Amino acid sequence: MINIALFGPPGAGKGTQADLLVKKYNLLHISTGSILRSEIDEGTPLGLEAKKTIERGKLVSDEMIVKIIEKTIRNNPDVRGYLFDGFPRTYVQAYILEGIMTRFHKKLCCLISLEISEDVSVKRLLERGRTSGRRDDTEEVIRKRLREYNDKTIPVIEYYKEINRYFPINGDGSVGHIHSQITAIIDKQIL
Ligand code: ADP
Repeated sequence: MINIALFGPPGAGKGTQADLLVKKYNLLHISTGSILRSEIDEGTPLGLEAKKTIERGKLVSDEMIVKIIEKTIRNNPDVRGYLFDGFPRTYVQAYILEGIMTRFHKKLCCLISLEISEDVSVKRLLERGRTSGRRDDTEEVIRKRLREYNDKTIPVIEYYKEINRYFPINGDGSVGHIHSQITAIIDKQIL
């Protein structure tokens, strides 16, 4: 079993790389952003609670995210591995994830971080906003999401650096080149 977290600012290309990795290694893709968007579309109580926060460019509460992750792992115990996308996004989430993994007798092998500059991030998200229909892909909300990223998400890197599970990659390259760098890291962990 191989469990991986894909990390990086909004627009880093996590979703694109996740699709390729899920196919190659037969993993269960757990994207907290997608799960929250489905909850919003279905109008569930959780979705209603998350909607305003997401549209303001803020992070939803750690409690809500932890509930989603626990439920997803509990409902899918027999997979080849998990690919976390957009999680952990705060230091507390990283800490709690360790506890959850231990409780389910699993381990996160690596945090693969796709690194891009703020300019590249804004440019990509504005482009995506033209076609995605995502209400949080407007310039004002994008700037707020990046502020949240710098304040709350960047500290996650320290957590994984300390335990030697942080693997940075330059995210400003071709999809294929980035994919092969990621698979090189993962293959080394599998061996
Ligand atoms: P992106 O990485 O492009 O910003 P996501 O689809 O991963 O977008 O997430 C969209 C929104 O969902 C975030 O801006 C945030 O409000 C919320 N969200 C997703 N994952 C988390 C998380 N792990 N912790 C807190 N909020 C989250």
